Amino acid sequence: MSAEEQIAALSLQNQQLEQLIHALPDMVIGIAAAGHITLLNDAVWSYLGVAPQPLTQWSLVDLAQYDAVFEEVADHFAGSDGVSPLKPFEARSEAHKRDFTVTITRGSDDQWVLVLHDISAQRDLMRFKNEVLKLASHDLRSPLALVIGYASLIPMELPPNSPAADYVASILSATERMTGLLDAMIIVEQVRNAPLELDRFVIFGDLVAEVVARMEPQAAQNHQQIIVEIALDTMPPMTLHRPYMIDVIENLLSNAIKYSPEDRPIVLRAWHDVEQGRVVVTVRDQGAGITSEEFSRIFEAFYRGKQPNGRRNDGRGLGLWLVKTIVQRHQGDVWIESQINDGSLFGFWLPVS
Ligand code: ADP
Repeated sequence: MSAEEQIAALSLQNQQLEQLIHALPDMVIGIAAAGHITLLNDAVWSYLGVAPQPLTQWSLVDLAQYDAVFEEVADHFAGSDGVSPLKPFEARSEAHKRDFTVTITRGSDDQWVLVLHDISAQRDLMRFKNEVLKLASHDLRSPLALVIGYASLIPMELPPNSPAADYVASILSATERMTGLLDAMIIVEQVRNAPLELDRFVIFGDLVAEVVARMEPQAAQNHQQIIVEIALDTMPPMTLHRPYMIDVIENLLSNAIKYSPEDRPIVLRAWHDVEQGRVVVTVRDQGAGITSEEFSRIFEAFYRGKQPNGRRNDGRGLGLWLVKTIVQRHQGDVWIESQINDGSLFGFWLPVS
C-alpha cells in the first residue's frame, strides 16, 4: 500500500471511529493533560441541551454550569493522582433526576476519557423496590397481627370437633409463614440501610471462637468437626460491627454444615494479609459444591438452590445475601471457589483500618 493509500485508510478509520463515538448513547468526554476538554460526543451536547460549539479552553468546571453532576465528576477527577486508574463511581444529577456510573480511563500522552453511563432506570427500580419492601415489611405487620390475634381466639368459641378448627389452623399456619417473610424483609432493610455502629479493637479470634462454640452442637449432630486455623498472634485488632460479623461467620458455618454430608470436617481459616492490608477469612467444606452458573445467584436475596431431588432448599435464601451485604458495608468483599462434588470455599476479606 502506498503512503497516500495508507493515509487515506487511516483517515477513513479515524472518521468511522469519530462517528461511532458520536453515535454512542453514553456521554463521552475527552480531556487533555492540562484539563482542557478535547471532545464531547453528541450525547453530551444533547444532555446539556445546547448545539455543539467550539471547545476553546473548556474544562469540566465549565460543564458544571449546565448541570452540577459535572462538578461531582470534576471533583473526582481532580482528586486522582494522575497515575493510578480511578475506580468507577456513581454520580447523580438532581436537576435531571438521572444517575450515572462514571468511568475514567487514562489513555496515552496523559489524555483521559470519561464515560457517563446512564443507570437511572436500574436506580429508579431499586428505589421503588426499597420503598415497596419498606411499606410491606412495616405496614403489613399491624393488620397481620390483628388477623393472628383474632384467629387464635376463634377455636375457643367453636363447638368440640368442629371442622372449622382445621380451617383456623390453616389460617394460623399461613399467617405464621407471612410473619416469617415480613421478619426477613425487615432484616434485609435493616442490614442494608441501618447505620453501622462499629466496635473498636475487636479480637477476631475471640469472635470466631464464640461463633464456633455456638455452632458446635449443630455440627456434632451431623458428626462434623469444625477445625479453626488462625494465626492468632498475627491478627490485628479490628474495627467492625461485632453482631453483624458474628452473623457472617455463623451463616457461612451453618451453610457448610447444612450442605455437606456427615463426617466431613469444615475448616475455617483466617489470616492477616499484611501486604494488602486485609484480614482474610475462608470456610471450606467437603459438600455437594455449587455449579459456576450459580455463583452470582446464590448471593442474591431470597435465592435458594435446589437439592439433588430437584426441590428448593428449605431456608429463606438470605444467609449469603447477608454475608455479602455486611462484608461490603465494611468495605470488604466476598468470593467463592467451588466445584460440583468437590466441596466449596466461601471467602471474604475486610480492610484493616
Ligand atoms: P439458604 O441456605 O437459606 O437457602 P443462603 O443464602 O445461605 O440461603 O444460600 C443460598 C443457596 O446457596 C443455598 O440454597 C444453597 O443452594 C447454596 N449454598 C450456600 N452455601 C452452600 C455450601 N456451603 N455448599 C453448597 N451450596 C451452598
